[in-house]
Formats: sequence, structure tokens, C-alpha cells
Amino acid sequence: MIIAEESGRYGRAGLSVGVSLCLETVGSILVRYGDSPLLREYLDGLLDGRLIGCFGASEPTGGSDLTGLRTVARRVPGGWRVTGEKKYLSLGLVCDFALLLCRIEDDRGDAHGGLGVFAVPASALSIRKRLRKVGTAALDTTWMTIDARVPDEALVGRPGAGLLVATWGLSHERLSIAGQTVGGVAAATGLATAHLHRREQFGRPLLQHQALRLRLADLSARLLSLRFAVYSAAQGIPVTGACGPRETAALKVTATRFAEEAMSECMHLFGGAGYLEDETPLGRMWRDTRLGRIGAGTDEMMWELVASGMTPDFVGYDELVDLG
Ligand SMILES: Cc1cc2nc3c(=O)[nH]c(=O)nc-3n(C[C@H](O)[C@H](O)[C@H](O)COP(=O)(O)OP(=O)(O)OC[C@H]3O[C@@H](n4cnc5c(N)ncnc54)[C@H](O)[C@@H]3O)c2cc1C
Repeated sequence: MIIAEESGRYGRAGLSVGVSLCLETVGSILVRYGDSPLLREYLDGLLDGRLIGCFGASEPTGGSDLTGLRTVARRVPGGWRVTGEKKYLSLGLVCDFALLLCRIEDDRGDAHGGLGVFAVPASALSIRKRLRKVGTAALDTTWMTIDARVPDEALVGRPGAGLLVATWGLSHERLSIAGQTVGGVAAATGLATAHLHRREQFGRPLLQHQALRLRLADLSARLLSLRFAVYSAAQGIPVTGACGPRETAALKVTATRFAEEAMSECMHLFGGAGYLEDETPLGRMWRDTRLGRIGAGTDEMMWELVASGMTPDFVGYDELVDLG
């Protein structure tokens, strides 16, 4: 969480998202499910900074809906052959290995064996298209085709448990994204507060105009609450399991929507200069932060996870509600 917050504070989500993809999504999966010598080698390399790993789930036919995945792993003598394509492979150009969510072909040749995560070397990835993006320019996101032969020990977790493995990694990624927004919004509100002190209009500093001061105070109050939430969630993951996929989804969707609003407001407080690339970094920060509402699952997918655990209070309802 400290790495997430501090890397977010640079206000360059391309950097912080890249770090969290490698350390959180890939790292957390390998820590929990990487029990073969090959996977432990990948983890060791990742932790001491020798290797970069990326994670590929999304495809042209399946983003929110992972039943649309077409990348297939089929058994071959001595291991598996993985073929297909991943549309948004962030770090795909610089990685040493990729963890890929695949459909497992059963012995009859039907792709009905459930999903599995496989580690493939970078040499198995070919560029189909370099993607141009609205923001996060520091992060390469590339449409890749895959053709790999990997040994049995490249399978991460059990065959068929791919969704479980992916969800574990994505939950860490989502919590990290929430932490990054804390750092990013803190950076933006810090700059905006300084500007309100320095810039004078109508004969006094902008900060003395109550409308602006209280808008910034509102953002700061929500930021303080979010900061408490992400740190307590981070403690809940390894210790008690109290912070599961539902809780991290709730934090991620709330944090990233707040961050988009906060960046826009801070940009606004700079007036015209906020919109100029050469005068302030706010425009870039605003564009970069927008990725948070899409990557590692969109707002709607996060809300679906939250909705799946909502409990009705029928006892209270029967006691307190009388519709006649
Ligand atoms: C810069 C960038 C980097 C990325 N990096 C990676 C990466 O490294 N690895 C990776 O695997 N993926 C990556 N992604 C992909 C990202 O996770 C997906 O784009 C995202 O999950 C949405 O999938 P989709 O694009 O197919 O949109 P779709 O699934 O087609 O969704 C389109 C819209 O419909 C909504 N929607 C879909 N289904 C429903 C529903 N049932 N109810 C309500 N609304 C719905 C979505 O929320 C969204 O608003 C990246 C994306 C971007 C833009």
C-alpha cells in the first residue's frame, strides 16, 4: 500500500499502474499459487528486480465477460501448447514472462476444461498492434498474439481454477489502484492548494474565496476517508481475509470515480493553465487517472461484485415497513 500510494503521488499513472501490474497482480499470484520451480524462479526474479511479468486476461471477444476468452491451452507431450491473442497486454513489450488466462481444451479437443492461468515466456508473444491511448503513455499496452509450448510446471494453480487465480491477482491490483488514487489525488490537491495561495483575483488570494476553499476542503475530506479505508483494507487481506474480492471491488470503484472527479476539480482550480500541457501536469493526471475506471475491471463489474453480497433486512422490513 505504501508503494501504491507513493508511486501514485508522482501523478503518472503509466508508471504506478506498471509497477502494480508486475508487483501486485503477477506477484500476488506467484506468491500464492506459484509452487513449481519454474514459477518460483519467476517470482524470485520479479522480487529482486531482474524480471518483469505481465498479466493477460482481456481479449477482443472477452473483457468484462471472460466466458468470451478464445486463447486455448491444449495438452501436448511434456506440457501444454498455448495459442491465441490478448488485446490489452500492458508491459507486453518489456516483460520477460506473461501470466495468461486461457481456456483449457479437454482430451476430446473441446475447450470445455475450464479456465487456467499459464506462464509463458516473452519469446512466445508477437506484436499484433501497438495501441495508442488517451493517457498513461509511460505504460506500453499492446495487442499480442501468443504461440507457446510450456512445461507442466508453467500451469499456475490447478487446471480449471483459472478464475480463482485471476481474481486473487486482480483483487490485489484493485486495492493497489485504490492506493494509487490516494497518492495521485493528494498530489493534485497539494498543487491546487498551493495555487489558491499564490494566485490572486479580485484583490485577494483565491484561497480566500470561500467557494473555492470549501470545494478543496470537500475533496480533502473525502481523500482522508479513502486513505483510512485503503490502509485498513490492506491489513485485512493477509491477516483476516476480511478484505475479499467484494471489498476490494467496492474500494476500487469508489476510489477511481472519486479520483476522476478530484483531478477534474483540481484542474479547474488552475483556470486556463490547468488545461495547458506546458504549464501544469493536471491535464495529464486527469487523463491518466481515467484508466482506473476501466483497468482490472470496469465500474459496472465492480458494482456487480458488490451487488452479489448485498443482504436484505427482511426482519427489519417486516417490523418497520407497512405499505398498507
Ligand atoms: C490502457 C489499458 C490497459 C489494460 N491493461 C490490461 C492488462 O494488462 N491485462 C488485461 O487482461 N486487460 C487489460 N486491459 C483491459 C481491461 O481490463 C478491459 O478493457 C476492461 O476489463 C473492459 O473490457 P472490454 O474493453 O472488453 O469492455 P466490455 O466488456 O466490452 O465493456 C464495455 C462497457 O460495457 C459495460 N458492461 C459490460 N458488461 C456489462 C454488464 N453485464 N452490465 C453492465 N455493464 C456492462 C462495461 O462496464 C463497459 O463500460 C487494459 C485496458 C486498457 C484501456
